[in-house]
Order: sequence, then structure tokens, then C-alpha cells
Amino acid sequence: MILAPAPVKQQTARRTKIICTIGPASENPECIRDLIREGMNVARINFSHCKYDEALNRVKMLREARAELGVPLAIMLDTKGPEVRMFGYSKPVNLAKDDSLYIESTDKSPEAIPQLPPEDKRFFTNLPRIDKLCRVGSRVLLQDGFIEAEVTRLHAEWPGAVTVRVLNDGRLKDKAHLAVPGADYPIPFMSEKDKADIRFAVENGFEYIALSFVRTSKDIADVRALVKSVNPASPILLIAKIEDKQALANIYDIIRDSDGIMIARGDLGIEVPIEELPGLQKNIIKRCYLAGKPVIVATQMLESMTDKPYPTRAEVTDTANAVMELTSAVMLSGETANGSHPARVVNMMGRIIDKTESAIDYRTLARITHDYVDRDNITNIMAYSTVDAGHDWNAKAVAVVTASGIGARALSKFRPSVPIYAFAHEEALYHQLALNWGVIPFLIENPDGKLFSEVVKRTMDSLREKGTVANGDRLVYMGSSPLGKRLPTNTIRCEVVGDEAFHDEP
Ligand code: PGA
Ligand code: MN
Repeated sequence: MILAPAPVKQQTARRTKIICTIGPASENPECIRDLIREGMNVARINFSHCKYDEALNRVKMLREARAELGVPLAIMLDTKGPEVRMFGYSKPVNLAKDDSLYIESTDKSPEAIPQLPPEDKRFFTNLPRIDKLCRVGSRVLLQDGFIEAEVTRLHAEWPGAVTVRVLNDGRLKDKAHLAVPGADYPIPFMSEKDKADIRFAVENGFEYIALSFVRTSKDIADVRALVKSVNPASPILLIAKIEDKQALANIYDIIRDSDGIMIARGDLGIEVPIEELPGLQKNIIKRCYLAGKPVIVATQMLESMTDKPYPTRAEVTDTANAVMELTSAVMLSGETANGSHPARVVNMMGRIIDKTESAIDYRTLARITHDYVDRDNITNIMAYSTVDAGHDWNAKAVAVVTASGIGARALSKFRPSVPIYAFAHEEALYHQLALNWGVIPFLIENPDGKLFSEVVKRTMDSLREKGTVANGDRLVYMGSSPLGKRLPTNTIRCEVVGDEAFHDEP
């Protein structure tokens, strides 16, 4: 008996996309297939903890799985980014409330620093002139924000140091993260490692790079220049991770100049008062979808499922809330990278998304979004008309033949209630569109030089063969005719699958 392959949920009507971080718990072919079957759309490899040979192995498995299952799946490299650390101790240090610590700036590497006994409570940091970034009374967060401290003394003599008083008990692990919330850290955006990692992403054909701690749109321009120097034709797209106050101050420029945004709530929740996160998230999501850029909500979405079988009520509500706010994607980090049951977490996330989406009135939302749209942009105008026709005519889907992805993203901007079928012929774009809200990408042959109507007929035939549509289904297509000339969107066609008489002209 031949068993039919398990259905891939990605090809269903799910609109909000799921990003899974691949790590030790998920880097095997079976698990990757299970993650895809449960709905993974993008696989993230975090270069804070990953070597090149490990990364290449993961990429190979991901490519094999997506080819075998015949689904789009974008592969994303996430950079380490600039990091402020504490070092100079050889083993974890237990800290108690009211302990006094001396933290000194150094330009030496952790390996070149003497390892002092923990009783000395004397530490080093790579943050230059820490005394200049603080005042007496400033808050300093250690160990990813788990230990809070207050500056009690500044030592302004070169190379600069501070004394801090610890406010709660905690344990400092090796090379603990240090933050001076709100400070503009005087360290470069890209380290030598980041540059090498970005080159690696371009050379190995990753679809996305997520850039940690982007602070200005110049940071993005610098990365674009680096990408171009490696491969001027690279289609790689850049996601700016919003992780600190400076990025927030420049958020509009960063949205405009990046290819998408990640709301990196982990670091952002350390760098700004944590109670500001919900409002910031809501605002950034709205700015992004109105700009037609994908936006990702990241970190601790189903954190407790890292080792438990069920999420907390708060996590379920957090994920649902991100869906209601119309985020393009939700992200899993440790849950799928190091957790005890990665596929189960994705299944749970998918269930929350599906249930939440089923109660949203997308038609009304599309009309509201329409009020914000730039009337001089013809692709936007056509995209809204396509969505509007799709809704009014009870179409099965709206569809677009897209060489650049612009048309697909314009349709996605309106968050339609029907799926967006995007027909792309470049393989990179086909996988990249897996991140965009509501978009179901299909790979087609290069349609350049063909008539739009001809390509529409072909795509309908192949959709019918796949069983994605059936005779009688209505589709509203958008594109530009003739294809391949990179013309702005100039055509909308209403089609009935299998009804040859519906259109008789070429
Ligand atoms: P990270 O980024 O997981 O790479 O730190 C996300 C975040 O900071 O939330
Ligand atoms: Mn981060």
C-alpha cells in the first residue's frame, strides 16, 4: 500500500507565518520535516552560537527537506551583532543583594585578561569608557537582565570603571551579557565576525539575513555595500532587528531602508523599560504592514514549551495578540532550537494562529488600510482593487505573477481574507515570499516575453492539477503585461477555473 504523504499545513489558508530557530534539538532530517509539516515557513540559524560547518550541515538538511516536500522555505542567518560582555572570571559567580562589584573597561580580549578569584568581585567589560555612559544611580543589567544593579561610583581615570551595587541575588555565567539601558554603546555595528558571517550568507545563498542591533539606516546601507562587494547580483534580503533605543529613534528610516523588521523583544526588553514593549510592538507592526514590509514578533512566544508540554495562558494570548495585530510572522527561538519537542511547539503555535485568524474580519481591515495608501503608487492602487474584487466576488484567492515580489507584497499589505497566490520564477524569491503574510508562493518557469493571459491560464492549469483549485473556483489575478519588461502593474483579470469561455481573447 502506498501511503499519501502527510499534508503540509503550510499550503493551507494559514496567513501568519512561523519562523523556527534550528539548533541542536532540531538539526536532524526527521525533525526538520516535522517542523515543515506543522507549518514552519522560515528556518533561522542563529550565528551567536553556530560554527560554519554546523551551519552548512543545517542548510543542506533544510534544502533537502524543502525540495522533497515541494514547499517554499526561507533560510535566514541571524548575526551575532555587537555585544557587551563581562569577563575575567573562570567560573560562574554567585552574587548576593548589596554586593559591590568593580567593572572596568578594557580593549583586551577575554583570553588576554587575568582570571581573578570571584571573591574579588572585580570584572572587565569590552564596553569602552563605561564611566562615561553612566551616572551615579544609573541602572545596569547583568546576565540578560536577570541581575539588576545600580551604579554607586564612577572611576573616571583611564580606561574607566564603575562600582555597582547588586539589587537582587543571581548567578553570573561565563561572559555574561551587560547592559546600560538606553546608552548609545560606542562599539561598531559590525564586528569582523559579523562581516565574515554576512559574506558566508551571501556566498551560500541564504534567503535572508537578520541583522542584530541595527541602529540607523546607515547600518543597513553598510551591509548592502558588503553584500554587493561579495555578489552584485545577490537577491538576499535584510531584516533589521529592533533591539534598542537608538533603533526606535530611527524606526521610520529603518523600516524604509530594510526589507523587513524583527521586533527583537529579548534585547529590546532589556534596553527599554519592559512595560513599553506591548505598545511598541503594536505600533511597529502597523508601520511595517502599511509600508508593505514583513514584520516578525520574536522571543519568548511559547517559552515555557521549551521543556513543558503546554504553554502558559499568557503565552497563548501573546501569540494570538500578535496575530490580531496583523504581524507577518511569529518566531520561535529556544523552543525549537534547544527544546524537548520542537514539532509539538510549532503545532501548538499553528493551532493558536488558525483559531485566532478565523475570528478576524479581514475584509473590514482591508478597507481601513486602503485609507492609508499612497495614491500615486499604481501597484498599491491595483493591489487594493484586486483584493476588493476578490472579496466582493467571493474569489478562492487573489493571485499575482511577480518577478520582483513587489506585487505580492502589495497584496499582502491589505491583509486580505483570501490567500495570495504568488507565482515567482526566481527560486530565491519563491522561498523569500514564504515569510510574507498571507502569501502562498509557487515556482513557475520564466514567463518573460509571454502574454499575461497565457501565463494566467498555465498557472490555473497547474493549480488545478495540484488540487489547489477546482473547476468553478474564482481567482482575481494581478500583474503586468507583457511580462518580463518590469512594467508597473497594469492588469487585473478575473478568472473562473475551467471556464474556457470566460475569456476568449489571447
Ligand atoms: P536574539 O534576538 O534571539 O538573536 O537575541 C532576538 C531578541 O533579542 O529578541
Ligand atoms: Mn537579540
